[in-house]
Amino acid sequence: MIIQEPFYQPVANEVGVFMAAWSRRLPVMLKGPTGCGKTRFLEHMAWRLKRPLITVACHEDLTSSDLVGRFLIEGDATVWQDGPLTKAVREGAICYLDEIVEARTDTTVVIHPLTDHRRHLPIEKLGTEINAHPDFMLVISYNPGYQTVLKDLKPSTKQRFVGMNFTYPPAEVETRIVMKEAGLDESRSKALVAAADKARNLKDQGLQEVTSTRALIYAGALMVAGLESLEACTMAIINPQTDDPELSEALLEIFRTFF
Ligand code: ADP
Repeated sequence: MIIQEPFYQPVANEVGVFMAAWSRRLPVMLKGPTGCGKTRFLEHMAWRLKRPLITVACHEDLTSSDLVGRFLIEGDATVWQDGPLTKAVREGAICYLDEIVEARTDTTVVIHPLTDHRRHLPIEKLGTEINAHPDFMLVISYNPGYQTVLKDLKPSTKQRFVGMNFTYPPAEVETRIVMKEAGLDESRSKALVAAADKARNLKDQGLQEVTSTRALIYAGALMVAGLESLEACTMAIINPQTDDPELSEALLEIFRTFF
């Protein structure tokens, strides 16, 4: 349960869209690059709706049992333990499957019946299925940039969700976010955002990921902590983003023109 309001600066009508989806309990897919505000948005919405939020960071070893639950040995007995998805389905929480595409494909089998009019969860190991609590809602995130031919969500799975596109916010909005989150002054926040805008153009030159809002906030936080501006940008933005000396130099060149 999120008690304190998470700061979220809306970019468009994302709050209205989510509210509409919630009112019909439609499943939602948050699409967008890493560090652009998807998780923060959902935390904010869970707080607004006063619903518990259960987040599962999906990874390549995550199976449907990890989501649904399993039998555990306790002394001489075997006891059933609900997984996070089952818990959310029973209790009426919002369940957030972060980077769902990373998980094993068998996870989509348990998700499908939850995403249509059936709204139920099959629990194969118990030989049963449970109906979702009226307030249960499923949300997944998906980073289109990461996908390869081998790893992508099936179109038939994607079509079961309302798709909300996220991207890095416009400059004025991103500046406000950096100011608030890092506690940085306006002029350096503006410079960080303007430099990021240029740096993001390097995407086509071989950068796998572009500079995220999160990285800008980290750079701002290091500046507030007393680091010199270019050093802060190098540590928080450039070094984590690339191992390639030429790309690092190209990024540094961009940041040098702003600091
Ligand atoms: P994602 O889930 O897309 O990887 P996050 O939601 O974790 O990214 O965003 C990274 C950080 O960027 C957040 O912790 C927050 O500080 C900041 N952020 C990004 N967008 C916003 C926004 N619109 N309003 C407030 N903070 C934001």
